[in-house]
Amino acid sequence: MRFDELGLAPEILRAIVDQGYTEPTPIQQQAIPLVMAGKDIMGGAQTGTGKTAAFTLPLLQRLLPYASPSPSPARHPVRALILAPTRELAIQVHENLKTYAKYTSFRTLCVYGGVDIKPQIEAIRKGVEFLVATPGRLLDLVEQKCLNFQSVQALVLDEADRMLDMGFVPDVTRIINLLPKESRQSLLFSATFSNEIKKLADSMLKSPELVEVAKRNTVSETITHRVHPVSAEAKRALLTRLLRSDEFDQVLVFTRTKQETGRLARELVKAGILADSIHGDKSQLERLKALEAFKDGSVKVLVATDVAARGLDIDALPHVINFELPHTPEDYVHRIGRTGRAGKKGTAVSLVSAHEVPYLVDIEKLIKISVEQVVIAGFEPEYDYEYPPTGKKKPHRRPEPAAPTAAPRREPSPPREPRHHGKRNNNIAADGFDFSAPYAAKELEPRGEIPASDHAPAKPDPHKPKRPVAALLGGLGKRP
Ligand code: AMP
Repeated sequence: MRFDELGLAPEILRAIVDQGYTEPTPIQQQAIPLVMAGKDIMGGAQTGTGKTAAFTLPLLQRLLPYASPSPSPARHPVRALILAPTRELAIQVHENLKTYAKYTSFRTLCVYGGVDIKPQIEAIRKGVEFLVATPGRLLDLVEQKCLNFQSVQALVLDEADRMLDMGFVPDVTRIINLLPKESRQSLLFSATFSNEIKKLADSMLKSPELVEVAKRNTVSETITHRVHPVSAEAKRALLTRLLRSDEFDQVLVFTRTKQETGRLARELVKAGILADSIHGDKSQLERLKALEAFKDGSVKVLVATDVAARGLDIDALPHVINFELPHTPEDYVHRIGRTGRAGKKGTAVSLVSAHEVPYLVDIEKLIKISVEQVVIAGFEPEYDYEYPPTGKKKPHRRPEPAAPTAAPRREPSPPREPRHHGKRNNNIAADGFDFSAPYAAKELEPRGEIPASDHAPAKPDPHKPKRPVAALLGGLGKRP
């Protein structure tokens, strides 16, 4: 199928040709005709599938009769509202939208929090048909009474699952309640589906068509997954080692918290690696600068939290490294969705220590892939690293010697062979390292409770050891 078979107007087709797209991606082939026909859509599409164009192109087409060259703000009311969970995704969607709308007389705008609201108010007052927004800032603007939703004909909820994770559903519901009901077309996109997402879809969509390009919660087939079992203490040294190898040129590294993100990036810089970080505590300008430097290659490693990296579209990003595994398996799908996009190859490497094995098991179950495990000599995991987990406690490796006099003379033990776990079939990385050099282990700083993400309230962690209630109440002491 070609783009010119979809019935798009010449001014939209011209913009597509400028982008160099030759044919619509599968999600575009499915969604564009349905959206042009005015249907509501529930779209299951991973990032990197071309889903942004799948909704922006047909909406431009549908609303084209309303495009007006008039300078009057009254001729440019908000007609399409696109909600995205993060500033980065909102900016990215808007960048795409601008390129596709460039030969039309539509006005587009992107609004998000963390920056001065006044220029946004002024821009809205001048008139804008396509408004891309994060939910919180949109509600701020509603309170400023500069928005009129009477003419809204289309609502798009992009990355709805992330909206849910970030606790935005009440904000989104408030926004939906402000929009016209009868005449409105609604589109919901989500990479993963849960019952909550379905509930949200029920509340906003009318007899939606289901559009799906990949099986739910699956990952691109062009991505190669690999796990390096490693002790928590040795992770930093192993990461540095990997990043210095020839295998890794441009890498997005994920950690679970913004504190860890900043700390790790600083340590990498100290180790002579061009690195920067991106997380929710950074200003918008700092985040954009870090992202630009990463895209243009002046920064080789970008350390990010799940939320900050959400929706990032980095052309042909070859590698993702999970410094820590996410505690919800869906986040693994999102993280590695930054690579292997648009049919390109990618690698997803995870550094996994003993306490993370249950999360690995959850991830493998979700993505239905058994990930190859490769132990790197000198960076072996903890003694109690056990894959697949049996749930049985291992005995201590070195029993305490008995009475000093009874201790037999011991021969020095031979160097320990790297252990194989599960289906692991290789203990040497494919990157040609000299693995014989010993590493200097670094003490991990003690950490407190870790929130699941930048902004999100911590989700219940299925694998967190539970403290007995009696202990919390001061009990479990020795009784007389
Ligand atoms: P998205 O899933 O919307 O984030 O898009 C992922 C990437 O695919 C973006 O860099 C788009 O510019 C690109 N893209 C979208 N549609 C097409 C197409 N039909 N052909 C080639 N690339 C595309």
